[in-house]
Amino acid sequence: MTRLTLSFDNGPTPEITPHVLEALSKRGLKAYFFVLGKHVDTGEGRALVERMLAEGHRVGNHSYSHEVPLGDDPRGDAVEREIVSTERLLAPLLARVSSGAKLFRPFGGGGIVGPHLLNAAAERYLREAAYTCVLWNDVPHDWDDPEGWADRALAACTPGAHRLTVLHDIPGACLAHLERFLDEARARGIEFTLDLAESCLPLVGGVAREGLPAIVRS
Ligand SMILES: [Zn+2]
Repeated sequence: MTRLTLSFDNGPTPEITPHVLEALSKRGLKAYFFVLGKHVDTGEGRALVERMLAEGHRVGNHSYSHEVPLGDDPRGDAVEREIVSTERLLAPLLARVSSGAKLFRPFGGGGIVGPHLLNAAAERYLREAAYTCVLWNDVPHDWDDPEGWADRALAACTPGAHRLTVLHDIPGACLAHLERFLDEARARGIEFTLDLAESCLPLVGGVAREGLPAIVRS
C-alpha cells in the first residue's frame, strides 16, 4: 500500500487557498496546512484558517515571515518574532478544535533538510512548548515547476512508500495541476492519510527523536 500525506505551506492566500480547499473537499480529503503568521495576521487570513479547521484539516505554524531559516537567523529575538508571534495568532483558532498536537514546520529554502532549519533557541522553545516538528520526504517543487510537479510527485509514490509531500497554496505553484494529481493518485490506488511518517518527525510533543540534532545549528 502506498500512502500519501498532503501538506500545503506558506499560505493562506485569498487567491489560491479557497480553491485548494474546494479540491480537497470535493474528494473528501484532509491535509496539513503550515501557515505563515504574516498571512494569518489579517481578517481574510484568519477566516481561511477557521475554514481549514472547520473542514477537518490540520493547521501548523510555519514562522511569521518565512524570510531567513531559523538556523541562519542572526536575530536574538527570532524565536519570539517568528514562532511565538505566529503561535499567538493561531492559538485562539486552534483552541476551538481538538486536533491535539501543536505543529511546527521549519523552512529551509528548496526543501533541503539540514542544520539551517533551526537554531538552539528555537529547538529549546519547541521542546519546552511541547511542539511536534513536521518535516517532509517529498518536495516536488511546485513553486518553480507548476507544470511538472504533479508527475514528479506521482513518480515518487513508489510501491509501499509513505510520502509526506510539500505543496504550496500560493500563486504560481500547485493549483493548476492539483485536481489532476489527486485524481490520478486515487486512480493508482494511493491512500491519502493524515498519519505522519515517523521519519519526518524529529520532535514529537516536545520529545526529541533521533533526527533532531541534524536540523539544529550548534
Ligand atoms: Zn515554506
